[in-house]
Amino acid sequence: MKVDYHMHLEMGSLTLDYLEQFWRQAQAAGLDEIGISEHGHNFYQYEKIMGHLRTGEDAYPRIIQWLSRKFTLDLDDYVALIEAGKNRGWSLKLGLEMDYIPGKEAEIAAIIDAYPWDYVLGSIHFLGKWGFDFSPEVGWPDKDINSAYEAYFTALLEATSCGLFDSITHPDLIKIFGHQASIPLEPYYDAMVAALSETDTCVEINAAGLRKPVGIIYPHPEFLQKCHEADIPLTLACDAHYPSDVGRGLSEALELARSVGYTHFATFSDRQRSLQPIG
Ligand SMILES: [Zn+2]
Ligand SMILES: [Zn+2]
Repeated sequence: MKVDYHMHLEMGSLTLDYLEQFWRQAQAAGLDEIGISEHGHNFYQYEKIMGHLRTGEDAYPRIIQWLSRKFTLDLDDYVALIEAGKNRGWSLKLGLEMDYIPGKEAEIAAIIDAYPWDYVLGSIHFLGKWGFDFSPEVGWPDKDINSAYEAYFTALLEATSCGLFDSITHPDLIKIFGHQASIPLEPYYDAMVAALSETDTCVEINAAGLRKPVGIIYPHPEFLQKCHEADIPLTLACDAHYPSDVGRGLSEALELARSVGYTHFATFSDRQRSLQPIG
């Protein structure tokens, strides 16, 4: 079985025609099942979780501008669209990629509880009000790279420890533009593995890094190996933002998974996990 559990409709529209392009590409790429995982911040229901990133003197102009186009869609429409796709016989899963924002656990949990998700992904894209994956020109020139890595892994650990998510996505996204920390990351990897294990959360392998300046898959093989040794289940992701990227880089991701010892990956229905052999 081949799956891709991470993709976004946000560059198109919440229509069956656009969704069908993802499903057709999935079939062309030899996938048996795909999970749509739209970003929470596209929906008005998420404004109470991330709206504060637009305000205050420490807000970033580029992020204020970006958020002015967010919080517009309705989760009800999104959920109904994926259900309609399932009813057409397309092998879809209903997912959501949620930014973990410290202190907003109750609001995040309320959205998770309100809909029949097959799975929910937890992500870190913001450190305070800084969206570190926007551009190497946004925030990075003023930042100490080691401090940015420390803040990132601290936030990722909190996102994992809250226990709200089924899988933690692209778990070293901080490397996106190729910035490298000189501090040892092993203690963070160990702490993450312990938190994933304790909360019975999956780790995601995400091929999108191949298309970014860093040019390699998330996460680092050393971290992935530690996850495997601790029996942390794996979810598979290409993180397509366009139909043409569905399944792109999946074979490289599976090769990396196998190289550290993984023999299975996780699929979800109604937030119940099953393990499938890597073909
Ligand atoms: Zn993401
Ligand atoms: Zn994503």
